[in-house]
Amino acid sequence: MFVLPPPAQASVAVAGTAERFPVRRIYCVGRNYAAHAREMGNDPNREPPFFFDKPADCVVDTDTVAPYPPGTSSVHHEVELVVAIGKAGRDIAVADALNHVWGAAVGVDLTRRDLQDEAKATRRPWDLSKGFDYSAPIGPLTPVAAVPSLSAGRIHLTVNGETRQDADLADMIWPVADTIAYLSRYIALAAGDLIMTGTPAGVAAVVEGDVLEATVAGLVPLKTTMGPPLG
Ligand code: MN
Repeated sequence: MFVLPPPAQASVAVAGTAERFPVRRIYCVGRNYAAHAREMGNDPNREPPFFFDKPADCVVDTDTVAPYPPGTSSVHHEVELVVAIGKAGRDIAVADALNHVWGAAVGVDLTRRDLQDEAKATRRPWDLSKGFDYSAPIGPLTPVAAVPSLSAGRIHLTVNGETRQDADLADMIWPVADTIAYLSRYIALAAGDLIMTGTPAGVAAVVEGDVLEATVAGLVPLKTTMGPPLG
């Protein structure tokens, strides 16, 4: 019934099983840690949460090589807690929001910072700075019942063994429940949606050959190597 073979279903690994979590959409929160908002030149105090998307097929499993993307000379790492939605909803109440969470994982929001800076300066969209191929390495999801906390715990990223980002989920300006509630006022969340919940301070450039290792307390670590550009 399709005129072409339908594209493969994007998916994320699930810890401890061969089963996978199908990805529908990826929403990302901007400037959700005060120190990161400041390092990007913004006042973190009075901003409501804001969102951008990545295409679902940007996801990359742990232990894969992410080719250095074309069209940029400044790719930054942003370690983030990733929340997977397992139950649809809109206008979700904060008190009910965590009932919509299926699980959580560690992710990295790879960003073409030079293109993003240019987009900000020219008031253009962020799409090409955020939504490129291989731009969302995400580790295996841990089902929510086995996640110790979505609101506190160390979030940490090293490059070649050296710490670049080191913070606590408790530093989030908008906690996970608030983020889900707010987002669901604007779009209907559905099972299969991922929310990348923002990055703490310490974002910096990566180069070909760098090994990124990211952790969130209680979740399966993520390891990504920056590979050579695709030929
Ligand atoms: Mn981000």
